Amino acid sequence: MGKIKGFMEFDRLKEPVIDAKERIKNYNEFTVAPEEKKLQEQGARCMDCGVPFCHSGCPLGNLIPDFNDAVYQNEWQRALTILHSTNNFPEFTGRLCPAPCEEACVLGIVNPPVSIELIEKYIVERGFAEGWIKPQPPEQRTGKTVAVVGSGPAGLAAAQQLNRAGHAVTVFERDNKIGGLLRYGIPDFKMEKNVIDRRVDVLIAEGIEFKCNV
Ligand code: SF4
Repeated sequence: MGKIKGFMEFDRLKEPVIDAKERIKNYNEFTVAPEEKKLQEQGARCMDCGVPFCHSGCPLGNLIPDFNDAVYQNEWQRALTILHSTNNFPEFTGRLCPAPCEEACVLGIVNPPVSIELIEKYIVERGFAEGWIKPQPPEQRTGKTVAVVGSGPAGLAAAQQLNRAGHAVTVFERDNKIGGLLRYGIPDFKMEKNVIDRRVDVLIAEGIEFKCNV
């Protein structure tokens, strides 16, 4: 678990933001990465509850107390492995999800809940920065082909899972770029487009084929 009584020692962490006077000069994301120590302290607040309500709050079933503890222990690569075991694209959910896990967090009954989404985001950002996120093409191909219609987050996740299972996957997208709602429905200040592009590069390297404008 995190630190015993860590929840009594440390406060909830809010993501720092760029000053509004600077922020209005462009449409980019305006958050600033917290210090690593602050994220570890946030992981320390997790009580590793006997019945972790955060689990049932998360639609993906993310193993939240496990990655909270790994961050507290400064084991970021292990945290990334835990996070990716249930979530193909934590860099999307870490920016966009309304965080029902935090609504469900047991600590939230008496104190502000653990900043779970923030921890999630910075685990995966660390993973990209360190080069830990590498293409994982399947060792064997099944000879079967799969068409995925639409390259929104659900299509991309389905494509990655099916490709990793060995099928030859082609994603068909009607727009001229990949991403669906991620690209055409989410403004840059919530998520810049390079966040989509760097993940798509991984998917292409894994062997997934994309066809746009179809
Ligand atoms: S409910 Fe909150 S405190 Fe309990 S395990 Fe989940 S994140 Fe940690």
